[in-house]
Amino acid sequence: MFKTILLAYDGSEHAKRAAQVAKAEGEAHGARLLVVHVYEPVPDYLGEPFFEEALKRRLERAEAVLKEGLALVGLPPENGLLLEGEPAGAILEAAHGEKADLIVMGTRGLGALGGLFLGSQSQKVVAQAPCPVLLVR
Ligand code: ATP
Ligand code: MG
Repeated sequence: MFKTILLAYDGSEHAKRAAQVAKAEGEAHGARLLVVHVYEPVPDYLGEPFFEEALKRRLERAEAVLKEGLALVGLPPENGLLLEGEPAGAILEAAHGEKADLIVMGTRGLGALGGLFLGSQSQKVVAQAPCPVLLVR
């Protein structure tokens, strides 16, 4: 039923559990599984040389998070998407671009507001996704 599954990975405990679910769903459906990680842009008001340095560090961190997500589902770098921008918007764009049939993500992420039932990125994706969304606690 699902041909392309998109796992949204931010390195959080919820996302780690989502990775296990995405891997199992991918195997059960013989689906192509992609892992997407989105990093927020570095504000350019930082100016040189801080901008370059901050950008380099942010990219390195983002690459490490994506690599970890890929390792959790046992896939090579080709199955990873590293995108810059606002997480929900970029996840939705990737879902459209890759024609995903299923998005798998955590109910919560790295955000500090523990009282919330659903993180803001999950809320936006659920509200606007072109396909079913599987939210993992
Ligand atoms: P908030 O970000 O609203 O403070 P939160 O961090 O707890 O709250 P979300 O950001 O909505 O909650 O995270 C829910 C899920 O969304 C995560 O488990 C992960 O699957 C996905 N996600 C969040 N941020 C990213 C990101 N930058 N890249 C990829 N996936 C992400
Ligand atoms: Mg978050």
